Amino acid sequence: MPSQSEIDRLATAPVPAMRLLIDGAWVSGAAEPLPVLSPIDGTQLTTLASASAEDVARATASARAAFEDGRWSGQPPAARKAVLHRLADLIQRHALELAVLGVRDNGTEISMALKAEPGSAAGTFRYYAEALDKVYGEIAPTPRDVLGLIHREPVGVVGAIVPWNFPLMIGAWKLAPALAMGNSVVLKPAETASLSLLRLAELALEAGVPPGVLNVVTGPGHLTGEALALSMDVDVLVFTGSGSTGRRLLEYSARSNLKRCYLELGGKSPNIVFADAPDLAAAAKAAATAIFRNAGQVCVAGSRLLVERSVHDSFVAALCDATQKMALGNPLDLGTQIGAVNSERQLAGNLGFVADAQAEGAELVLGGGQALRETGGWYMQPTIVTQVAPGHRLFRQEVFGPVLAVTPFDTEAEAVHLANATEYGLAAGVWTANLSRAHRMVRALRAGVVHVNTYGGADGTVPLGGVKQSGNGHDKSLHALDKYSDLKTAWIQL
Ligand code: ADP
Repeated sequence: MPSQSEIDRLATAPVPAMRLLIDGAWVSGAAEPLPVLSPIDGTQLTTLASASAEDVARATASARAAFEDGRWSGQPPAARKAVLHRLADLIQRHALELAVLGVRDNGTEISMALKAEPGSAAGTFRYYAEALDKVYGEIAPTPRDVLGLIHREPVGVVGAIVPWNFPLMIGAWKLAPALAMGNSVVLKPAETASLSLLRLAELALEAGVPPGVLNVVTGPGHLTGEALALSMDVDVLVFTGSGSTGRRLLEYSARSNLKRCYLELGGKSPNIVFADAPDLAAAAKAAATAIFRNAGQVCVAGSRLLVERSVHDSFVAALCDATQKMALGNPLDLGTQIGAVNSERQLAGNLGFVADAQAEGAELVLGGGQALRETGGWYMQPTIVTQVAPGHRLFRQEVFGPVLAVTPFDTEAEAVHLANATEYGLAAGVWTANLSRAHRMVRALRAGVVHVNTYGGADGTVPLGGVKQSGNGHDKSLHALDKYSDLKTAWIQL
């Protein structure tokens, strides 16, 4: 762990005006730059270049040219591997700087950001650096007079549109496997969390990623993101963000070149506590961190807590107790466990969910309001709402904030029914000491990941992806490589 004084020193470093990375050069955008406001205190950190449609076209053309001439795609796997390892080294060397810059930009608590951002990103680059020369093609079981070869080839140009909650972690989930397979990439970070990814791109150049292979276009989603998603030069679009933007991306794909879209669209993930959980006190603590770390701005957050009725009241009491012990505060303080809400717009949305839940008859038992107004930043009290029914908006829609919906259940079958009564299917949690029940629940829950007697923390060796309207395709693990490669058959008469 770094010291608080090291963090404080980095936290006051001036941030230069940010530019776009196109064809290996840092350039201004043709559209109006955006102010970058810190959620910590509302002050302006710097400005962000906005890429116009023409800027995006130059970036995709540069990525296409780089792909075609083989400056990266044509390098021996061992050479790409060395570069990606160098990038991982550089991320580790600059971990604190990257984490602090990211926190100033997006408000995640530094204790979490250190692990989840540079720490995770470095690990992801290493994982795919190591994987890239261990992925083989196949020989098909053909008749003896024919040879059927199945080649795995890069897809070409990958467009990556990423969100603001964990820019480095999620950015690396897309960039590392895409680059490992030999593709070129145009990255579009979120307008409220671009700074650390721009710094990562600088480190990528330093590590030896050739010019044009990684381009970064920043700016508003409806301008820069839309231009990228409409590009005829992008072969595959990978995205993490909201369902409404995901829907638009599919439309853009249909209107342009039918580019493949892989979407990770969040969730309304059920965390299910049975009365026979091995340790209810531990489950209560974990239920609090599952929703309140990073102020609930986590796609797999356990945002719906389903509790067996016989332990409901005592569990909610333990949960409130655990929540009140979590330190809400300046995200740059090492002791903070709940940081800032990313933007004023997000905070207003969170508060709207609480008001609607109360109007619909649910019971507010903790929090519910804005916090730390005097800072000038955007903070929200960790909020627990009980008696949330399946018809309520808070049961159905993703808040992406520190608001937990609690619903009681009586039987295992009812727990499954309530858990699956959502259009989402990203994550779930089950707390039980009954092994058979745990396995039954894993099978019955419609989710990409089911945690048992824990919540969150699944590492890079396992895939993460949604079912239903939480999206398609997987980040992490070797399965992620499928998004960034095509299969080609050679059918050879002997
Ligand atoms: P949120 O509402 O939580 O900010 P979004 O889905 O809007 O989530 O944002 C995720 C990413 O999608 C960001 O990088 C954002 O700029 C981008 N984005 C938003 N709107 C569009 C759009 N119309 N086309 C392409 N990208 C978009």
